[in-house]
Amino acid sequence: KREQLSPEKLAQELCQADDVDAQMTRMVQLFEFSEGERRLRDLLVTLFQEVFLEFFPGSAILPFGSSVNGFDVSGCDLDLFLELEKTKKFQASAKSAPGPPAEDEPDSHSEDSILSDIDLASATVPEVLELVATVLRKCVPGVHHVQVVPNARRPVVKFCHKDSGLRGDISIDNKLALRNTRFLQLCTEIDERVRPLVYVVRHWAKQQALAGNPFGGGPLLNNYALTLLVLFFLQTRSPPVLPTVARLKELSEDEEQTVVEGWDCSFPKDSTQLEPSGNKENLCALLADFFRIFGDYDFPGCLISLQEGQPLPLPSVLQSEVGSKLKLGPFNLQDPFELSHNVAANVNEKTALRFQRCCQAASKYCRSLQYQRKSSKGKIWGLVRLFQPGTAEAEVPVAAEFVINLPLTLAVLPAETHELLCQARDFQLRCFQKVCAGIAFILQDVLKCSCLEAQQGSEEERQAVPEGKQGEQQTEAKAGPLSAGCKRSLDEEEADSSSPSSKRPRTDTLVPEGESMTWDCATWHKVWLGRRRVRRQLRGPQPDQQQAAGSLELEAKVSEAISQQEGGGKPADPLFHFSVCARVRADAFVKQDMRISLCFEPAPEQAAAFQEFFHFLQGFLPRAVEQHLAREA
Ligand code: ATP
Ligand code: MG
Repeated sequence: KREQLSPEKLAQELCQADDVDAQMTRMVQLFEFSEGERRLRDLLVTLFQEVFLEFFPGSAILPFGSSVNGFDVSGCDLDLFLELEKTKKFQASAKSAPGPPAEDEPDSHSEDSILSDIDLASATVPEVLELVATVLRKCVPGVHHVQVVPNARRPVVKFCHKDSGLRGDISIDNKLALRNTRFLQLCTEIDERVRPLVYVVRHWAKQQALAGNPFGGGPLLNNYALTLLVLFFLQTRSPPVLPTVARLKELSEDEEQTVVEGWDCSFPKDSTQLEPSGNKENLCALLADFFRIFGDYDFPGCLISLQEGQPLPLPSVLQSEVGSKLKLGPFNLQDPFELSHNVAANVNEKTALRFQRCCQAASKYCRSLQYQRKSSKGKIWGLVRLFQPGTAEAEVPVAAEFVINLPLTLAVLPAETHELLCQARDFQLRCFQKVCAGIAFILQDVLKCSCLEAQQGSEEERQAVPEGKQGEQQTEAKAGPLSAGCKRSLDEEEADSSSPSSKRPRTDTLVPEGESMTWDCATWHKVWLGRRRVRRQLRGPQPDQQQAAGSLELEAKVSEAISQQEGGGKPADPLFHFSVCARVRADAFVKQDMRISLCFEPAPEQAAAFQEFFHFLQGFLPRAVEQHLAREA
């Protein structure tokens, strides 16, 4: 494992550079994969390929995303595409011609074959992913935390590689991503300024909590959208640094014509065929202009088009056929190929406004000498100051969607009543209450946070309660402004992600969508740091026989030990305050899963400090709650 680059080390490295351009190129070197990390990923891909070939004859594992698109950051996730076209053909031909397979053909219809359980031609994506998850769980050594996420826009199986801690996704219906990955890579080959600019903008956005929710989803910008924004910016320079996507199509040869899912994705294979840009601006000036331009941009009023290399006014977009299918919102950024897809459709108004304000603040800073010139007195300068989280931008909600597996006894009912009961509101409510009790237990008893119930109820009830009376519902008068902000952000996120009429909760089904629970919490110790080491010390070299049953006790002891190391007890002030809002999602129940979104909101000015704890909670909380539920059942 490569050591994480600490903010102090980054600042030190950057301050030593001679000018901002040198700082920006240094950023790439500090963040990109080491040789070892690249080798590890290659090895993992080979391992997956071998295992999947055995179960899915003719299949291929193809990496995409940041591992291969030229914007690799040490520790980023490993996105894999499982190509099953040939396997489907094998299966179809095996069916139509029963009998022993030919010598060189895999036996996909014997009883032992995993393919005997499924018909790939008619199976749904989640069904195939369940099978992929089974193969991962049972047959890929060193992989754990395998989880199917069936309801995402692009469903995936998530996994984690134990030794390296590397997280990854496998998808099966995401061919466009392979193509846009190649497009991003081509852009990095066309001009060497692309990589430094993207690395800097991504890191800046992460530091300002505008981007970087590793779970995907939520109201923040994702790295793909940010990268496209930088590419678009480079298309609009005069003269342009990058050609438009339409121009790239014109430049592509006959054999380079490519159509994926009905979208034209043609562009030249080889960047050396293209004319170098006549633009000679340096990185320092480009970055300053990026902030100046987007600090004053009409994001809600236009569609940013990389296809055309210019913003398109919304009224004319809406008249076109693809335009009318776009999910428009406060931030409209068209995918370069899938033209009816707004890659920033998840961004809510609050994030869009914050993005603009942060750009304005950055632009102002970029006009100062502190940005432009190295300090002769050893003070921080250039990019370093830019990366410091803005204090004005305090209210930062951090949302994540968790899928919590319900224990069998909670979810599986007698077959004939199962369907009916699974839809019954009180049954689902009971499940939600148990999950909430689990969340509170883990936060309080296992992670030693203080955790006060602030508000409970359904969206419908809350809407019915007159203003000012809501406090009466609280168990204690603890519902601070945080919880209100938290709900607002989720509302906006949901409004963005569904039809315009869905702002109000659905009342036509029994699913208690909008049911929510909020807690006001505080953390007193860094219970997320060094848990593995403390766990090993407590458990000794021989894992406890009762480990599975007692592991939550062990986790509680780990937290206790960490707080003891830090002096124990509760210091005068907590490290930070935050609120947590758990909320039932639409279509909450999928088999034995319950879909709950958890929105964490750190107290003002504590957003940056809270990020590390938030990342830890994302991994820890759902699993711990599942364990707790299983034990309670
Ligand atoms: P990182 O993992 O470092 O955040 P990434 O580029 O790999 O960066 P992911 O969110 O992992 O980002 O997505 C992987 C790939 O999936 C992207 O590179 C892109 O090809 C595709 N992708 C991600 N988000 C979207 C989106 N909103 N619309 C279309 N394609 C997307
Ligand atoms: Mg990725």
